[in-house]
Amino acid sequence: MERSFKKEVQALTLGEGETFRGEGILAVTKALLQSGVSYVGGYQGAPVSHLLDVLVDAEDIIGDLGVHLETCTNEASAAAMLGASINYPLRGAVTWKSIVGTNVAADALSNLASPGVVGGVMIILGEDYGEGASVIQERSYAYAMKSSMWLMDPRPDLPTIVRMVEEGFELSEASRAPVMMELRIRACHVTGEFKTKANRRAAFSGKNRLAGPPRFDYGRLAHPPVIYSQERLKVEQRLPAAQQFIRARKLNEVIAGDLADVGIIVLGGLTNGVLRALARLDLADLYGASRIPIYVLNVAFPLVPEEVREFCVGKRAVLVVEEGSPDYIEQAVNVELRRADIATRVLGKGMLPRAGEYTSEVLLNALASFLAEARPARIDADAIAARAKNMLAHKAAAVAAVGDIPARPPNFCTGCPERPVFSAIKLMQRELGPTHISADIGCHSFATFAPFSLGNSILGYGMSLASAAAVAPNMDRRPIAVMGDGGFWHNGLITGVASNLFNKGDGVLIVMKNGYASATGQQYLPSSAANRLGAPTGMTIEPTLRSLGVKWLRTVRSYSVAKMTKTLKEAMRTAERGLKVIIADGECQLARQRRVRAEDAEKLKRGERVVRVRFGVDDEICTGDHSCIRLSGCPSLTLKPNPDPLRSDPVATVIESCVGCGLCGEVAHAAVLCPSFYRAEIIRNPNWWDRALHRVRARIIGAFATRHAEARA
Ligand code: SF4
Ligand code: SF4
Repeated sequence: MERSFKKEVQALTLGEGETFRGEGILAVTKALLQSGVSYVGGYQGAPVSHLLDVLVDAEDIIGDLGVHLETCTNEASAAAMLGASINYPLRGAVTWKSIVGTNVAADALSNLASPGVVGGVMIILGEDYGEGASVIQERSYAYAMKSSMWLMDPRPDLPTIVRMVEEGFELSEASRAPVMMELRIRACHVTGEFKTKANRRAAFSGKNRLAGPPRFDYGRLAHPPVIYSQERLKVEQRLPAAQQFIRARKLNEVIAGDLADVGIIVLGGLTNGVLRALARLDLADLYGASRIPIYVLNVAFPLVPEEVREFCVGKRAVLVVEEGSPDYIEQAVNVELRRADIATRVLGKGMLPRAGEYTSEVLLNALASFLAEARPARIDADAIAARAKNMLAHKAAAVAAVGDIPARPPNFCTGCPERPVFSAIKLMQRELGPTHISADIGCHSFATFAPFSLGNSILGYGMSLASAAAVAPNMDRRPIAVMGDGGFWHNGLITGVASNLFNKGDGVLIVMKNGYASATGQQYLPSSAANRLGAPTGMTIEPTLRSLGVKWLRTVRSYSVAKMTKTLKEAMRTAERGLKVIIADGECQLARQRRVRAEDAEKLKRGERVVRVRFGVDDEICTGDHSCIRLSGCPSLTLKPNPDPLRSDPVATVIESCVGCGLCGEVAHAAVLCPSFYRAEIIRNPNWWDRALHRVRARIIGAFATRHAEARA
């Protein structure tokens, strides 16, 4: 992978009583090593991508502890890895992005949770919910409930996160159930410190291998008829054992407060937001002390009925702070209180919105509404409501003052090799008409935004071809499915390609072969040039497709817009039935730039020749119609005032960030636009030939300039 965490991983070697300082997700990694894990793995995805990246960069450190690391090809593979803990006293941890990753892993998770585990199991979920999320808005809670896996949601504070990891393994072993730990983006990136312990070597690992398999035990299999007794074990033994452990170890916290006739029940991960909102209302301080008592659910599932009752009894009302819908916790709290005949009012949704992230503004409003409704003794709820209103009033005024601000959706990086493919699709459609585009997950989904606005459905990572299966037979024109090489190996190979071939499908598949799982930080793939150890992977997409029976297969350089357009037209028009695959070949530009910049810096240090390519637009030739911008969308291709005093239209211009990919020139050529683009080479440490060529060129240009000046005079 291109991004390096070599510096950060040194924190993983800290010993007993030292101080760790850093981000939450790195603290989780250290806590895993302190917990004596035997194996770790996962599949990258925000906001936990760099947990796996850090583990890869720390391979030497974890290797010394005998910890096995697996960079899995998808989340199902990572979840299935946890099967090692069903039979053996091996602690294991895996990570992925949720909800999508948990969906992919669901089958293995069900089959893990049913027999249960002997060694502690911890699944670190990057809970990508809320305003900055990149996936569908669902939560992992439902998975925990349906499969009887416990869900930790720690307060975003490093000592708490670390304690939850360590005690989470014990909870898993005490109740024989897998434990999930959800970390929202703020928990992943919260910074802080904690006192470290020495890393623990597991009793059994690569350094001290198990002697052999256990005696055959049918009860360890997720298979009928034993699944019926496993279902009973989940509710009759594992659940009570978990609740007992959570209570005994005080995994949930109570922040005491003097306004004891009301209270807040909050999911651990949302605690900082609630405390901050209370602080703004002068009901909490900056160190986490609150005037309103707060019950912090560091374990979101299962609830511990006794704790809920103890917290609520004697209170006039409690507010349940739980993002999203359904209101699982609010319902559960209501049930527990009714069962115990406790008359405390339970407020939640209604004060808080049913959907969306609980931002600072949302929480401020909700707390003011709650206090106005519950009317606790000894505070002026109306004054607090007025104060909250006052605090938020400036927002409306600011919006009115600024006016409409154009949306700035995310976009492809400058020089991205995927952008030209969509330029080619647009050019193809200009001639053949619009066609259905099955989009996918990955950087290429940016094509759904302007200026391309291409894509009719997104069904999941690597699912584009499968999602076109019922479109193709019902449409005049062949659909086009677009998937990245990440999606291809994650799911698309079997779900899409094999299924299409098996069903004798028709249609076009474009595979963006950029060499990495780019959207998540350029992790290596089975078809990357090398694996994480620098060795060739031995796997390539083209022979894989051919071996499955794909006959119509073309590999086209991504930046060759004209060739790509021609190939697309051929794929759309050919009478040959069956799957037609176009491999769009071009290295991720972000990864390339990181690599090339480092290489160039080294060359410059050695005094060697370095060439940088830039494109430009000739102001005098640019017609000002900007079709090059509409067909390329490159952020480095923009506008500037027309230098010609007789023309008012702004002209296109290429700014300093250009990486010289050549797309704008290619587009201008393929779409027969104006000839205003030029290519320039900026040469540092030129050699004798460069200097000689420059002298000749300067003379010729000088001669032309003189003739031009004379002609004008
Ligand atoms: S990360 Fe790579 S593939 Fe993704 S948009 Fe940037 S250049 Fe393109
Ligand atoms: S060559 Fe053109 S398309 Fe490529 S980075 Fe430069 S301005 Fe953008």
